[in-house]
Amino acid sequence: MKISFDLDDTIIVNNSFECEQQTLMQRIFGVERIRLGTIALFKELKAKGHSICVYTTSYRSVGKIRFMFCSYGISIDEIINQIIHEKKVRSVNMPMSKYPPAFGIDIHIDDSIGVGMEGERYGFKTIIVSVDDNDWVNSIMKQI
Ligand SMILES: [Mg+2]
Repeated sequence: MKISFDLDDTIIVNNSFECEQQTLMQRIFGVERIRLGTIALFKELKAKGHSICVYTTSYRSVGKIRFMFCSYGISIDEIINQIIHEKKVRSVNMPMSKYPPAFGIDIHIDDSIGVGMEGERYGFKTIIVSVDDNDWVNSIMKQI
């Protein structure tokens, strides 16, 4: 399956998350901190043959996002930022904030209840994980 992940408050840390360890080089380069469990989760999903995408409404560049994950030893198969989303989804006048089927994505994982509601309304699968779910990796694995 093709699985996508939101960034802010899902993978990229807000203050309530425990984070993955950072190397000195990551600190020097100002690499953003990611939620504890991300590396193991992405590696497990990849080992099971899934492809991993990032789907974010932020304007971070594709290169910056790729570099960030790469620095944690994770390769991302496809990155969709707000610019790519707007080109594809907004251009055909679709009002939703995210529309994973436009990119062939089977399941999208996000912290936003609004995205979950859009999924119900427009017919795409989501897994919504709360920012304060410390067992978030298991919550996802149970539903995939
Ligand atoms: Mg989010």
